[in-house]
Amino acid sequence: MIEKILVANRGEIALRVIRAAREMGIQSVAVHSTADADAMHVRMADETVCIGPAPSPQSYLSIPAIIAACEVTGAQAIHPGYGFLSENANFVQVVEDHGLTFIGPTAEHIRIMGDKITAKETMQNLGVPCVPGSEGGVPDLETAKRIGDEIGYPVIIKATAGGGGKGMKVAASAAEMEKAFLTARAEGKSNFGNDEVYIEKYLQKPRHIEIQVFGDGKGNAVHLGERDCSLQRRHQKVFEEAPGPAISPEERDRIGKICADAVAAINYIGAGTIEFLYEDGEFYFIEMNTRLQVEHPVTEAIFGVDLVREQIRVAEGLPMSFTQDDLTINGAAIEVRINAEKLPNFAPCPGKITQYHAPGGLGVRMDSALYDGYSIPPYYDSLIGKLIVHGRDRREALARLDRALGELIVDGIDTTVPLFRALLAEPDVLSGEYNIHWLERWLETNLNEG
Ligand code: ADP
Repeated sequence: MIEKILVANRGEIALRVIRAAREMGIQSVAVHSTADADAMHVRMADETVCIGPAPSPQSYLSIPAIIAACEVTGAQAIHPGYGFLSENANFVQVVEDHGLTFIGPTAEHIRIMGDKITAKETMQNLGVPCVPGSEGGVPDLETAKRIGDEIGYPVIIKATAGGGGKGMKVAASAAEMEKAFLTARAEGKSNFGNDEVYIEKYLQKPRHIEIQVFGDGKGNAVHLGERDCSLQRRHQKVFEEAPGPAISPEERDRIGKICADAVAAINYIGAGTIEFLYEDGEFYFIEMNTRLQVEHPVTEAIFGVDLVREQIRVAEGLPMSFTQDDLTINGAAIEVRINAEKLPNFAPCPGKITQYHAPGGLGVRMDSALYDGYSIPPYYDSLIGKLIVHGRDRREALARLDRALGELIVDGIDTTVPLFRALLAEPDVLSGEYNIHWLERWLETNLNEG
């Protein structure tokens, strides 16, 4: 059994894991850079180890430093959170080679899903519907043009190793193919060291719908419905909700079962998210994330389960604590990502928090590592908190979100809170009628983003 977990992360997600461990009677070890000596995850853990200087390649991304911290503290397992080393197959291999337990999927599954072409092929073979496009990689411009003509413009050219919205270019017509193809390839090469690209039909007005799956590694898997994450800026999510306002119970059961069966077939272990674009009643697979997602709390809220606890259970070889039949949806939940960013350009603005007050009350969850007097270091992600609200239905959740945002105080820096207050006055947001382009268009007309 796992008695001590090392959390290879920082910020709110490190707190999230420490909380689950503590409720299970498991000790926690926080690792931190010198810039994070005063961080909340360090204060909250049972033990702490400084693993290096501020830049993440020398601390949170340093595999030798993290393994050494396990050896020094006697931690038997590592939870990677999201980001950093969470989808690094080599890290998982090293963890296992040291006789430690990685709380997450196998290196092989991370490798398969980390390469988008291989992921798409794998999913297609498992019966998951995919976006029409090239069969595998596209070697040269000539082939790219032929495929563009075949599937019809607009198309999107994607780097197989891409992520975080990088390495994707849209070609609206044949005339734009050359530039888009070469740019996507160059971005893949410079950001991910891999210039292989593939082509997909560019969907015009889809929603981003993702299915939460969970496997025990022994051929059993369930799905926990969908999250709608269509409100995006630069392909990055800012507002997520569950259940999806456009998805019917029948659609959820159908796509959910396809996803659960697919991950069961490969003996997937732990939490995973299968991402789709959804347009005119059809789902199109785009990628799978082999980790806990930032937006997992909306799923936890409507199903009343603790996904980190389940991750730890299956890593110990225990069964999941629920079956598909136990999982029923209760109400609606919304998450907004509170970033240390200044509108209208979303420029990161780290600095000292002079006053912090978290909202509370029924159906309100604030996952944040902030505290009064904390100085946000400039080296890391700008996410400083997630506000999650849960109501009996979507209307109640929206009203609760507005109320909770009004209670939240984060003084001393700029945050994305004003954006969410403005969005809650938009009829399209209130009615749930938005797609992946809605927010970009709204920002152009309402914020005059530079
Ligand atoms: P990343 O790994 O960089 O996050 P994804 O493949 O998950 O890339 O795509 C991110 C976002 O890009 C999607 O949520 C969607 O907004 C947009 N996108 C991706 N593929 C398509 C497509 N075929 N048509 C239209 N939009 C797309």
